[in-house]
Amino acid sequence: MGSKRQTVVLFLAALTVVLSSPLINELQPGEEWPQRNSVRQPVADDQTEQTLTEDFSTDDPAPAAVVEDAIIVAKTIERDHEPKKIDYSGSQVWQVSTTKSGARQVIGRLRRRNLISTWGGNQSSVDILIKPNVVENITRVFKRESIDYNVVIEDLQKRINEENPPLDNDEIELQDRRGHRMTWKQYHRLEDIYGFMDYLAKTYPSIISVKSIGKSFEGRDLKILRISNGKSDNKAVFIDGGIHAREWISPATVTYFIYQFAEYFDVESDDIKGIDWYFMPVVNPDGYEYTHTVDRLWRKNRKPGYRACTGTDLNRNFGHHWGGKGASNSPCSEIYRGSNAFSEPETLALSEFIKSSAANFSAYVTYHSYGQYMLYPWGYDNAVPPDYKDLDNLGKKMAEAISKTGGSQYQVGSSSGLLYPAAGGSDDWAKSQGIKYSYTIELSDTGRYGFVLPTSFIVPVAKENLAGLRVLASQVIKE
Ligand SMILES: [Zn+2]
Repeated sequence: MGSKRQTVVLFLAALTVVLSSPLINELQPGEEWPQRNSVRQPVADDQTEQTLTEDFSTDDPAPAAVVEDAIIVAKTIERDHEPKKIDYSGSQVWQVSTTKSGARQVIGRLRRRNLISTWGGNQSSVDILIKPNVVENITRVFKRESIDYNVVIEDLQKRINEENPPLDNDEIELQDRRGHRMTWKQYHRLEDIYGFMDYLAKTYPSIISVKSIGKSFEGRDLKILRISNGKSDNKAVFIDGGIHAREWISPATVTYFIYQFAEYFDVESDDIKGIDWYFMPVVNPDGYEYTHTVDRLWRKNRKPGYRACTGTDLNRNFGHHWGGKGASNSPCSEIYRGSNAFSEPETLALSEFIKSSAANFSAYVTYHSYGQYMLYPWGYDNAVPPDYKDLDNLGKKMAEAISKTGGSQYQVGSSSGLLYPAAGGSDDWAKSQGIKYSYTIELSDTGRYGFVLPTSFIVPVAKENLAGLRVLASQVIKE
C-alpha cells in the first residue's frame, strides 16, 4: 500500500514538472519521421488463424442494467506474445423495445447471466449484443415475453471486417509525400494520429504546439495540440475524444477539426482565430490501440483491476460526485468507476492539465459515440445546473447547424434527463470547474452500425460537427 502511495506521489511530482514546462513543439529539429515500413496498415481481412471467442464487452448500459455487473472476460489466446484478435463471428446486435413493462427486467436478467451485453440505449429501446450460441434462446425468451426487437447487425464480425479497409496505393503514395500519414478515409492507429499532430507543430510553429501531459497506464504519451494566435486575452476551448476506446469516430472527428483549423488558419473566421484551441484526440490511447490489435469493442482503459478483469471506465472516473448513480464498483463491469476519483493516469493528467492551465476555458466538449445526442450536465443525477438554459439554447443552435450541414438530427438535453444518470463523467467535472459550456456529444450513428461505423462516414460526420463547433465558437467569442 505504502509503495502505491509513493508511486502516486512520484507521479504527481513528475506531472508537476511536466505541467510547469511551457508548451513547446516536441519534435526536435532534424528528427526523422518514422519509416513507412514501421507502420502497420490495417489488414483487409481477418488474421486467418482462428480465435477463441466466447466473450465480448458491453457499453453504456440501459438504466435497468446499470449497476448489474456481468462478469465479462475477453478471452484471448496468447501465442508468441502476440495477442489474438477476438472474433465476433455470428454475434448479433438487436434493437430491443423497452416500452413494454418488464422488458428492462428481462434484459437485465439476460445481462447478469452474461448472455448479452448492452451497447447504446435510450428511454424507449436498448441495443444489445448477443453471442452466437444464444441467439435462438434469446429469440424464444423475447417471443414468450412479447418483447419487440429488430435484428440490426446479423453478423458483427462481418461488419468489423468491412469497417476499416486499407488505403489504396494512390493514397499511400500521397501519405508518403505529405509528411504525415493521417487521412479521414481510414481509422488510423495512434502512431499516425500523433505523427500528424507533431507534423503540424513542426509545420506551423507560430500557431501550433504539441505537448504530452503525461503517460497512459501502459506508458503511451497523452498528447494535446494547441492552436493559438498568441494573444494573451483569448478565451479557450478544450476538446477531447477517444475517452472510450471503441468509439473510433471520435478521434477521427477531433483530428479532422485539428486539420481544418491548422491547415486553413489564415482564412478562418475571426471567431476561430480568436480562440485558443486545445485538442486531445485520444484520451485513452491504451484502450484505443487495444481496439485495433485485440478487441474491436473494448471500452475502458487497460489498467489491471481484479483477477482477469481489466480496465476502468474513464468516463466514470472523474471527480464530481464520483461513485454515484450509473457507475459500478466492480472491476469486471464495463462501467467500473475505478478505485477512487482520478485513480487513472489518463483522467488525472487531463484534469490536472485543465486545473493548472492558465488558459481561460469557456467550453469543454468531449466527443463520444453513438446515438446523436448533444448532452449537458448534470450526468450524476437527474438535475441541471442553474444556467442550463444557456447550455440548452446553444446546444439546440449547434444541433441546428449540424442538421443544416449534413442532415443528421441530434437530440439536445441533459445527460441524466435524456439518457440516464452516470456519475463520474468528464463533462460534469468540467462544469464543476466553472467551464460554462460543457457538452458530451454522442456522434453518429443512431444504431445501424453503432460503434462499427464504416470509414465513409468519417468526413460527413466530422464536417457537420465542425459546423456545430463553429456555432459554439461564435458564442464563446460573444461572451
Ligand atoms: Zn463513450
